[in-house]
Amino acid sequence: MPYAYDDQNIFAKIIRGEIPNDTVLETDHTLAFRDIHPQAPAHVLVIPKGRYVTFDDFCANASDAEILDFHRTASKVCEMLGVNPGAGGGGYRTVGNAGEVAIQEVPHYHLHILGGRPLGRMLQPA
Ligand code: AMP
Repeated sequence: MPYAYDDQNIFAKIIRGEIPNDTVLETDHTLAFRDIHPQAPAHVLVIPKGRYVTFDDFCANASDAEILDFHRTASKVCEMLGVNPGAGGGGYRTVGNAGEVAIQEVPHYHLHILGGRPLGRMLQPA
């Protein structure tokens, strides 16, 4: 069963063009744009254009074309941001929050790409 999707969430409005965004890269299936409250010099959100709530929802219900395009686009964004370790960018972190445990604020699947400064350890001890 697909998750219940809220068509009024802010990323749905961005996809429909109802509110502006700072686009980094767009394809038929995927949109990448800068986070409005960046937590690092490079902070981009990658979202599928389809109606998916979380990573698990996306993987279970998106087409192979959507899933492939999403990851190729995210990889291309890393390249565009110049953060790839192999290209001397020092590295990056990808984060996907899902549900209340991870404090997911926007209920449309998104991958954070963060880089451009030392990011510290992934989690603080509980
Ligand atoms: P999460 O907690 O993983 O759901 O992250 C949601 C992210 O969306 C946060 O980092 C917000 O700063 C970001 N955000 C919320 N509204 C917008 C917007 N209109 N444009 C760009 N980023 C946004």
